[in-house]
Amino acid sequence: MFTIAKTEAARGIWSAFKEPLSEPARGMVMVDVIAAGICGTDYHIYSWDAWSAGRIKTPMTIGHEFVGRISAIGEGVTGYSIGDRVSAECHIACGECHFCRTGNAHICEKTSILGVDRPGAFAEQVEVPASNLWRVPDAIPDKHAAVFDPVGNAMHMVATAKVTAKNVLIVGGGPIGLFAAAIAKAHGARTVALQEPNQARAAIAKSLDLDLVVNPRDPGASEEILALTGGHGPEVVLEVSGNGKALNAALDIAAPGATFALLGIPAGLVELDLGAKVVMKGVSLIGITGRRMYETWYQVEAFMLKNPDLMDKVITHVLPATDFAHGFELMDEGACGKIVLDFAD
Ligand code: NAD
Ligand code: ZN
Repeated sequence: MFTIAKTEAARGIWSAFKEPLSEPARGMVMVDVIAAGICGTDYHIYSWDAWSAGRIKTPMTIGHEFVGRISAIGEGVTGYSIGDRVSAECHIACGECHFCRTGNAHICEKTSILGVDRPGAFAEQVEVPASNLWRVPDAIPDKHAAVFDPVGNAMHMVATAKVTAKNVLIVGGGPIGLFAAAIAKAHGARTVALQEPNQARAAIAKSLDLDLVVNPRDPGASEEILALTGGHGPEVVLEVSGNGKALNAALDIAAPGATFALLGIPAGLVELDLGAKVVMKGVSLIGITGRRMYETWYQVEAFMLKNPDLMDKVITHVLPATDFAHGFELMDEGACGKIVLDFAD
């Protein structure tokens, strides 16, 4: 097996090598990786953009969405056995700050992230604090269990925005937007519309039987969304594109009093007419980061157990881990939903 790591802080230079296996530290376990999802963050690091160059200390094993089996247990860990199949929360919060102590560890300012700040899961083994583990029920297959993390991002967003009986617009049909659409539907939204310019991704959205899938570049897109919502506009908008223009367009058509859950991360500053589009419309803008620990994990587990068909539609590729470069190419083209790498052999 191999580890995908950046060997030089120069774009495009990668190597595969075997990492020495070590004993887990106190409170930690070693997990033999079975499968791992490729996240947009991994793609950013792989393409070595400005964010990656400023944040990642090389060499770094990337990857943070995974499922595996516990192969070694550190001192002081109780409740787990060798062979247990687990996923894990990749945000390692400090556990001691005001936010951690008030049930808000997802916004802990001392968070260290697997595959970003410390060695991650595109490897034979990953070392994880036992407190971050999530035991996976047998009924959830490996390829689903590998993506608890991004489904958790989508779940946290949908649950925070409270979609039941609401007209929902999802802006962006990347993997997280697609998972969010599936979850919003399962959570009893009145209607679910999704806008996505990439036709391959729009086709995946259509396979989820949403009420409307539109191309935002189509001049009639806004009218179609308004017509679906009886002319009022969506009451909930889930922003998963990181596109500032798309956010502005959604603010234009949203119903007064709408809730916007913002998960997409814009590349730069975004200009907004706050007075007219937010204050006077009584709109709520809510930033969404990570997953609630561990409420979101219970919700994701329930969703995966009940909706394996929806999971299968959004996970479009399972590739041997050695084909990771092909996975990144597919992401570059947007010719995919979620991609999972198989590390089992
Ligand atoms: P992605 O980049 O694959 O998906 C974004 C999608 O938005 C793409 O399919 C793109 O074609 C589409 N898009 C572009 N312009 C659009 C427009 N005008 N209208 C509608 N769609 C448009 O990313 P992803 O993995 O699905 O993640 C979504 C976003 O969430 C990214 O910005 C990512 O950085 C961010 N993210 C945030 C968190 C968090 O904790 N807040 C966690 C993971 C990812
Ligand atoms: Zn903390």
